[in-house]
Amino acid sequence: MTERPDHTAELENLVGSAAGPPQLAPHAVNEAMIRHWVEAMGDTNAAYVSNEAAQALGLAGVIAPPTMLQAWIMRGLRATVEVEAARASGRPAGDTATDRMMTLLDDEGFTSVVATNCDQSYARPLVLGDRVVVSSVIEAVSSVKKTGLGTGRFITTRLDFAAVSAQTVGSDPDPTEIFGRGEPVATMRFRILKFAPAAVAQHKGAQTLVAESIPPALRPRPAITQDIAYFFEGARQHKLLIQRCAACGTLRHPPLPACGLCRSFAWDTIEASGRGEVFSFVVVHHPQVPGFEYPLPIGLIELEEGTRIVADLIGVEGSEVRVGMPVMVEFIEYDEELTLPAFRPRPEGAT
Ligand code: ZN
Repeated sequence: MTERPDHTAELENLVGSAAGPPQLAPHAVNEAMIRHWVEAMGDTNAAYVSNEAAQALGLAGVIAPPTMLQAWIMRGLRATVEVEAARASGRPAGDTATDRMMTLLDDEGFTSVVATNCDQSYARPLVLGDRVVVSSVIEAVSSVKKTGLGTGRFITTRLDFAAVSAQTVGSDPDPTEIFGRGEPVATMRFRILKFAPAAVAQHKGAQTLVAESIPPALRPRPAITQDIAYFFEGARQHKLLIQRCAACGTLRHPPLPACGLCRSFAWDTIEASGRGEVFSFVVVHHPQVPGFEYPLPIGLIELEEGTRIVADLIGVEGSEVRVGMPVMVEFIEYDEELTLPAFRPRPEGAT
């Protein structure tokens, strides 16, 4: 086995560098994008769509949902596809500090990537007419770490978001100049792990390797706290337990310490029937984490009791999943420790 190149010194030199040039949002904060967002997310906070409701809360008018922050500066699908195509063909995507860092990490053998943390803090709400601009800096590169996914380095990028009034942005704007005079609105720290996958690093195909020598990876263990232990204990008994506010009866999932409606800390659980329908779904192809089979359809299931839960979809190809598809819970015993609910399509009207 050959020695892995060590680019620690060059990587440390990149810490503090701008990850890339400042990026200006293509559009000002606007009602149309906010409305699409809140409809997609099912967020019913009226302060995002009604001036009257916002003013009743002491705001000047409609505000954008804070967690929508990144949506304003997304470069869009077409540009993303072009960047990915350039990377895939071996052409350098660019010469930013991030590009140089990724090249160094790839050369160290850390070719896979997974996002691990995203923390946002907000200085003030974004309002209609704000033009967002973001500047990013490589904040930290860790030493080489051994993780459950494989050996690699954690990279933290800090994004500073500022805003100016859209009316002050000319027809040929300079994002650096605009960032310089913008009012800070939010900060986001984004952490990724660049790693060499433990099982596949020395071999051509993961499936061949698994068949040859290494037992299949176990499902990752959930981090079980006192607040959520009931859910996994219920799953072991093949019961789908949902948290219920003991004061007002509102159901909530995932578990939370207090009721979002009446603020009560008192709660108990109900056993859900397990019947529901697909409210939304994704089919995951990458990144491929050991312990899962891909493509992996994952559903956001609207339970008939009226709350939602995220779980694997089973017995159905990703291409066949449809919003509104009736489903029924089934419990999968992965191993002695871990049983999890999954949802399988059920014929309309079946119980
Ligand atoms: Zn309540």
